[in-house]
Amino acid sequence: MDDKIEKPDGEWRRVLSPEEYHVLREKGTERPFTGKYWNTHGEGVYRCAGCGLELFVSGAKFDSGCGWPSFDAPAAEGAVATQEDGSYGMRRTEVMCPRCGGHLGHVFDDGPTATGLRYCINSAALRFEASRSANISEKGNEKPG
Ligand SMILES: [Zn+2]
Repeated sequence: MDDKIEKPDGEWRRVLSPEEYHVLREKGTERPFTGKYWNTHGEGVYRCAGCGLELFVSGAKFDSGCGWPSFDAPAAEGAVATQEDGSYGMRRTEVMCPRCGGHLGHVFDDGPTATGLRYCINSAALRFEASRSANISEKGNEKPG
């Protein structure tokens, strides 16, 4: 991944919503159960809200109960970047977009599936793109009636 995207701060502020800017550029965390995608089950891909890079696919998403979109693996090897994060007195592993450097969330090693990983990602850092074949979209969550 060598086609890195770098923009001045003012440009990010212009292209991102305040919530997206706070998460991606200021390493913010949205409040649990408030994001767009924590309860999304449609088929498709989750792209970086900053630069559009494909980060996760719906097949890796699972209900962790934590209130943020959770995945057991990235879309591909190297689809996300990680680094140690010692903020708030905790030792965590930060997950970032490898192309624009945007903060996405954290990854924990207590995942329930074979990968053992739980990528806990802010909805505001993601843009969901429903796959065309399964044209259900995220509205598939809504209960009839
Ligand atoms: Zn990005």
